[in-house]
Amino acid sequence: MKAKPKANSVKSNAKSIDRDQLSIYLADLLQVNRVKDYCPNGLQVQGKGTIKKIVTGVTASLSLIDAAIEEGADAILVHHGWFWKNDDVRVVGQLHARLKLLMEHEISLFAYHLPLDLHPTLGNNAQLAQVMGWIDAKASPAAYPGAIDGLIWRGKTSGTQKTLGQLARSVASRLGRDPLVIGDLNKPVKTIAWCTGAAQGYITEAIAMKVDAYISGEVSEPTFHAAQEMGVAYIAAGHHATERYGIQALGQHLSKKWGVEHQFIDIPNPI
Ligand SMILES: [Zn+2]
Repeated sequence: MKAKPKANSVKSNAKSIDRDQLSIYLADLLQVNRVKDYCPNGLQVQGKGTIKKIVTGVTASLSLIDAAIEEGADAILVHHGWFWKNDDVRVVGQLHARLKLLMEHEISLFAYHLPLDLHPTLGNNAQLAQVMGWIDAKASPAAYPGAIDGLIWRGKTSGTQKTLGQLARSVASRLGRDPLVIGDLNKPVKTIAWCTGAAQGYITEAIAMKVDAYISGEVSEPTFHAAQEMGVAYIAAGHHATERYGIQALGQHLSKKWGVEHQFIDIPNPI
């Protein structure tokens, strides 16, 4: 007897959740008030009151909204939402185009930035460790006053990730993107630290942690010098590439918990 396709069974049993109930549930799950952020975390744009289908993605771009409409989404959940601290508050240009499309289709937009990086199991850092097979992965306390507790993670490489070159190859194959690597490819790497996204500035924290290599998403000109002069290898594995996993895990969690339909849509981004 043939097993029923999984996607169909999810769809036929799909339930719904009240938009505001979902907002309250996520605020609690992700402890959104725990951290000071550069954007509002939670419901950013109000859509229809009942949600049957959730689309997740990394960034609330126009392409993601288009794709979500195509798939019949009632809500979009992202890591990178809108309304960042220094944004122009006027609804013109890019924001106008995005907002108009979203509101015409009554789709809610939920965004979770730092709370999604920080979550101990569903977060970007926890999920990246799982994808990469890193062991003894745990969040690290803040290295200096004012730094955010738990944003940098540390652990150990596994399997064939014994040198910097091997670790870089493992990143390339598991994340599907060639990383930028700073350091001697033959250098043994056992202890590592990582923070997804644009966390190249935290390389000084990684140096203080005395790890063999630090992995983040992006890279800046000073990163090269810090890595070279302080003896820590650096891998820029991609901002988008390192932040695809938390939001997917969150969508899967909601689907399991509430029976709503969930679909992750990857809009590729080379950065
Ligand atoms: Zn990010």
